[in-house]
Amino acid sequence: MSLLNASSLGLIDLGGSASASSSSAVLEPGRRSPEELRALALDAAQALEGKPAEEIAKWATDTFGARFCVTSSMADAVVAHIFSRVAPGVDVVFLDTGLHFPETLKVRDTVARTMNVNVRSIRPRMTVGQQDGEYGPRLFARSPDECCFLRKVEPLERALSDYDSWATGLRRDESPTRANTPVVAFDAKKGKVKVNPIAAWTQADVDRYISRWNVPVNELFKKGYGSVGCWPCTRRTKAGEDPRAGRWAMFEKTECGLHV
Ligand code: SF4
Repeated sequence: MSLLNASSLGLIDLGGSASASSSSAVLEPGRRSPEELRALALDAAQALEGKPAEEIAKWATDTFGARFCVTSSMADAVVAHIFSRVAPGVDVVFLDTGLHFPETLKVRDTVARTMNVNVRSIRPRMTVGQQDGEYGPRLFARSPDECCFLRKVEPLERALSDYDSWATGLRRDESPTRANTPVVAFDAKKGKVKVNPIAAWTQADVDRYISRWNVPVNELFKKGYGSVGCWPCTRRTKAGEDPRAGRWAMFEKTECGLHV
């Protein structure tokens, strides 16, 4: 791959030095430094571009072992399923915001019951009631960035402290903001390696995988939702809209902060 192409896919980390943990910090024995993680990610991004999702998943679990997890929004369980085949027993982190649709929690429970993975539900520091008491009710309607920080971003950072690398289900065809998603990248802010094994998949690829392996899918997709998040910030999509158009539809906001 040319440097130009690597750059356009976000494979070249331009984020400067890792801020999450500096190279001068004392590392536990056997832990990789941020510089080592960055070098691993840059090599893998070029080597694994265009490879099957299973190969990318195997590289991730072979490389990071117990210091690796899958994150899932439980919109569907495709990525969790891929990893369950490649690395049975892998940790799957679910951010339980307290504001999910029942259909989403049903997928989470089905995954925990039927797949060979270890589902970890991570909760915010405050319940919804405690947050209402401290910030006022319906923070999501007044300051969704603040609400997402409290209920998603901080819990993810807390969960990821146990790992050097994590996988997501991000795909390039989901929205313009995700069009340059690399299959592997170094997240300089977190100081960790982010793996996106299905970045190059289309919705048709996802549908084929679901059908072939009978993977659990959120029932909301059959009810007109193109993308599924917390219930206060998700609406059905209309014909012709991109799948994520129903997220934070009242705001300019397009991402919850987990992937920026
Ligand atoms: Fe809050 Fe909405 Fe973000 Fe969920 S998606 S954490 S309800 S702002």
